[in-house]
Amino acid sequence: MIMDEGDRIGLIVGIIFAALIILWIIIRETIDRKRRQCSQCKKKGALEEIDRQKIKSWTTYGTIHEKKPVLDNKGKETGNYIDTSREITELHTLYEIKMKCKYCGYEENRTDEEIKQNR
Ligand SMILES: [Zn+2]
Repeated sequence: MIMDEGDRIGLIVGIIFAALIILWIIIRETIDRKRRQCSQCKKKGALEEIDRQKIKSWTTYGTIHEKKPVLDNKGKETGNYIDTSREITELHTLYEIKMKCKYCGYEENRTDEEIKQNR
């Protein structure tokens, strides 16, 4: 199979994209292992969630201000901006999580706040 210029660029872009995804997974995994480090035996990725209790939940309201570029009738930016705003509600839920080390059995409690945004 002979590859033309377009195919080669496509292949390179594909490889870069795949590499970025792999890198992202590694970083995420590292952060997660660090987060689940046992404070007793210092092993990383050791803590596992064994219980999750909802402590409380509340809602907050806010406004997001955005500047949108004004376009002329050809769809080009004119350099002017208009202020737009929209309302958002956020549902916060606070959990108490019981974590247990799978190596030494050490238990610790953590809190975790989950935020769901309604736009
Ligand atoms: Zn431990």
